Amino acid sequence: MVEKSGARCDVTTEEDWFDQYNTEKNFDMDACFNAFDKDGDGFLDLNEFNSVCRALFRNDKGKIYCMEPKKLQNVFSVFDRNKDGLIDREEFAFCWNNWIKKIVRPVSVFLVVDVQNDFISGTLNISHCSARQNGAEVVEPINRLLETVAFDTVFYSLDWHPSDHVSFIDNLSQRKVHSSSPVSAEEAKTYDTVIFEGPPLMKQRLWPRHCVQDSWGAELHKDLKALTCDCLVLQIVENSIKVYKGTNPEVDSYSVFWDNKKLTETSLVSQLQEKNATDIYICGLAYDVCVGATAADALASGYRTILIDNCSRGVDLKDIEKTKNIVTSNNGVIVDSSQVKAMVEGRDRRPELGYKMAVELKNIASGKSN
Ligand SMILES: [Zn+2]
Repeated sequence: MVEKSGARCDVTTEEDWFDQYNTEKNFDMDACFNAFDKDGDGFLDLNEFNSVCRALFRNDKGKIYCMEPKKLQNVFSVFDRNKDGLIDREEFAFCWNNWIKKIVRPVSVFLVVDVQNDFISGTLNISHCSARQNGAEVVEPINRLLETVAFDTVFYSLDWHPSDHVSFIDNLSQRKVHSSSPVSAEEAKTYDTVIFEGPPLMKQRLWPRHCVQDSWGAELHKDLKALTCDCLVLQIVENSIKVYKGTNPEVDSYSVFWDNKKLTETSLVSQLQEKNATDIYICGLAYDVCVGATAADALASGYRTILIDNCSRGVDLKDIEKTKNIVTSNNGVIVDSSQVKAMVEGRDRRPELGYKMAVELKNIASGKSN
């Protein structure tokens, strides 16, 4: 019988199963099922499934992350596909292949957003914005991750605007501002938001001219380990890819996935699919603008999304808080870079990300696209 009251958080003897058996030879679906089917009835009930989750969601030091009973029940119901209150072997095969395997062996991508000169010491130096943060501070912790963590792929995004780009305040006279705009063309100052006539009407924040294609300001910071010939970063060279955004003069692009009007996707979208990426680690500049928009799109696209707090710097403290709330309320996580290596290696497995993946599987099963 399934306990209706929800799962207990009691101690089992299989708590380190996924750590102990995580080798090619021993990482076996039937062995796993048998280990957790304590009463040997050929099914996993909610309590037995709770033990699976307790073994699955642990950190590299063996600390167990307890999943809330309601979330546990939701995850259980995703895999109990015939809704009989039990997970049979066939249902477990789906769970194993689409969920457990990916949690233990994620395909992790590192996405370094817009660590470009203009945002650090150039025309759109974020240290002049209200949060007074120094963009150069992200370079060192990002480099440390690049040197120590074996990501499957590293992407560097670049804001890459043509000279007549819609976001530049000095191009304001090139387009008509609509009468509904909160600020008129005559009054508009840098960082104000106007509404262009279009059609369609388009809200646009006005920035100083920045990241013009092929200019010094658009280059990645010189100390960022990237596409250089340094022996240390050979592995990075092989696995790193640049993604250009904001290349259409008529529409801005904060997210590395899509332009702001969702007209055109960048090359990132298909490359992530090709690589079967499961997890995206996002950081860079600016926290509450391009990093935040990218994280929101990563979550909306169904990816397990990890925002690296100490590798990001932003424009406005309130907006940085909003960004964090959007990430955590959509089952993403915010971590310090010191936690990344164990997560990429599948030794620190977060329940939030497991929950996110289960929600996505439910959407796929019910035909909902996200
Ligand atoms: Zn821009």
